[in-house]
Amino acid sequence: MANKIESVKAVKGMNDFLPADAERWEAFEEIVRDWLRSYGYRPIRTPILENTALFCRGVGEHTDIVEKEMFSFDDRPDSKGNTDNLTMRPEGTAPCVRAVIEHNLLFSQPQRLYYNGPMFRYERPQKGRYRQFHQVGVEALGFAGPDVDAEHIVMCARLWDDLGLDDVTLEINSLGDAAERARHRTELIAYLEAYQDKLDEDAKRRLYTNPLRVLDTKNPDLQAIVDGAPKLMDYLGEESLKHYEGVTALLREAAVPYKLNTRLVRGLDYYNRTVFEWTTTRLGAQATFCAGGRYDSLIEQLGGKAAPACGFAMGMERVMLMWTEGMEDAPMVTPDVYIVHLGELAGRVAFRAAEQLRSAGLSAVYHCGGGSFKSQMKKADASGSAFAIIVGDDEAQAGEVSLKPLRGEGEQRRVSLDALAEELAEMLYGE
Ligand code: ATP
Ligand code: MG
Repeated sequence: MANKIESVKAVKGMNDFLPADAERWEAFEEIVRDWLRSYGYRPIRTPILENTALFCRGVGEHTDIVEKEMFSFDDRPDSKGNTDNLTMRPEGTAPCVRAVIEHNLLFSQPQRLYYNGPMFRYERPQKGRYRQFHQVGVEALGFAGPDVDAEHIVMCARLWDDLGLDDVTLEINSLGDAAERARHRTELIAYLEAYQDKLDEDAKRRLYTNPLRVLDTKNPDLQAIVDGAPKLMDYLGEESLKHYEGVTALLREAAVPYKLNTRLVRGLDYYNRTVFEWTTTRLGAQATFCAGGRYDSLIEQLGGKAAPACGFAMGMERVMLMWTEGMEDAPMVTPDVYIVHLGELAGRVAFRAAEQLRSAGLSAVYHCGGGSFKSQMKKADASGSAFAIIVGDDEAQAGEVSLKPLRGEGEQRRVSLDALAEELAEMLYGE
């Protein structure tokens, strides 16, 4: 016997979505699209690959993403022998902002934009954490007021509601502006230095590069220390406080409950003022399924004309895990009819009938691969269709088909080919 050829497997941490799953994803994406349109957001699509510099500048050198999570590689040399270092996008905000700057989209008006697609991070795969995962991201560019921050949070609350997700918690905080953060930073470093020998490796490393992130630690041994750390909230000036109060007033107006978490920070350097996270207890360690906030300095930092902005991104896998929990395995999408046929003329008539039905807006599966009537009818049944259309020699000669209800009541009967689409549509959709 010849050696068995070894099969090639998917890359670690990167998932296939088989039809049952992929159908749910499509259903989810439809809900998401309607939801985004209802708030006036428009789609933007950017490439998977970007120059690595975009993320170093746009996400920040001292973030988990840039320090250790990027899929980066040298491109092939061009004709002059120069190579670019490219990165598979780990997140969508920097690419979106790059595109907005490159195409001057903020020239005459602010923009409400969204994207939906795969992101790549080199992480240890586990439930809700993958190396290729998907985000829906929403960005509002050119708006300075607290109303748009509140809009983002309220629109999230609406989506969770539409999806029937309970057990979700909103945490919110304000990071103030750069000057306020700088003052807080000095005192935070001084405070943490007093605990130098108690800090873990991560915290020591971040102490001078990104001390805010120390507050974010999951290490239980450090909780008492970070609990007592100076709170950014206490350093906010009048403008920042007013902004925060503007956001929370609208949340109360919309009856969206929130919890102030003074230790909530975002990993990325460019955030200011509003930050928020949606968490759940249903996903174990991967509790945060949606996060965002304001980033008024990013556009300028990436070379654009200064303009305020805010946005958020949800991890679709994490939302899907919650949404599909307990959902039936049955296919979400079934064809209207399954067409069985026996004989050469019948095959041709059936093929034509199938196309007629599709022209009339119905979905029809034409049986391929032959077989007895009995075996074809089994397939028809398994397809989940409401009707089977049966074409034998008899029907074919008469320019008719037999219409057999597969679910519930009703007798099999003959219908002329000409009347078929209309009758079926009437029965299926009452049109
Ligand atoms: P975490 O703390 O879980 O690593 P993060 O702060 O790195 O999350 P963001 O960069 O804010 O995440 O991305 C927004 C959302 O994208 C997260 O809230 C999460 O739902 C999702 N997400 C991030 N990384 C992954 C991943 N590796 N796999 C699946 N979803 C992810
Ligand atoms: Mg992460």
